[in-house]
Amino acid sequence: MKTECSVVRDLLPLYFEQMVNPETAEYVKEHLSQCDACRKEYEDLTSGDGIPVPQTAEKDKEDPKRFRSIMLRLRRQFDSLAYSLIIFFIFLGFGWTGGENLMYNSLIMPLVGIFGYYVFRWRAIYKVPILLLIIDSFVFLFRLIDLDLYSVFVWTGIYSIFVLVGIAIAFLLHYSFRKESIR
Ligand SMILES: [Zn+2]
Repeated sequence: MKTECSVVRDLLPLYFEQMVNPETAEYVKEHLSQCDACRKEYEDLTSGDGIPVPQTAEKDKEDPKRFRSIMLRLRRQFDSLAYSLIIFFIFLGFGWTGGENLMYNSLIMPLVGIFGYYVFRWRAIYKVPILLLIIDSFVFLFRLIDLDLYSVFVWTGIYSIFVLVGIAIAFLLHYSFRKESIR
């Protein structure tokens, strides 16, 4: 019973978005009709933990579930867009190392940090530098840039510092906006 509950709870967000196959949906529905704890969990999920869903339009009031589902989908699309930009900017920035565009990295790398914070939150602190190292190594291994291995590590370290500055900026902005909205 305990295992069944934890499986069902993992499925709830997907079930809510109707992204499970019909058999799974039937299984979850069946379980929800029998298990009070999981039904409560599902109600919390669909009602946004008791925080009222912004009701700007009459239509949203009628169909808050659909509205929330669209918002979740939008958020996911922004995430993958930001993620693609991170990878693109790292490639671009590292490719500029040693060239005349090198200076632009003092803007590009903090930007990578800002997008990184948007996608990974505080985990960006280690995830983005790891991503930097992977991409820089890739560029080095495929001889896309004329640098020795030592320089690759040094530049990756330097860019990581710029990335961390970006993460710090994004964190401060996020934090101050949150404070603003509570007030
Ligand atoms: Zn249950």
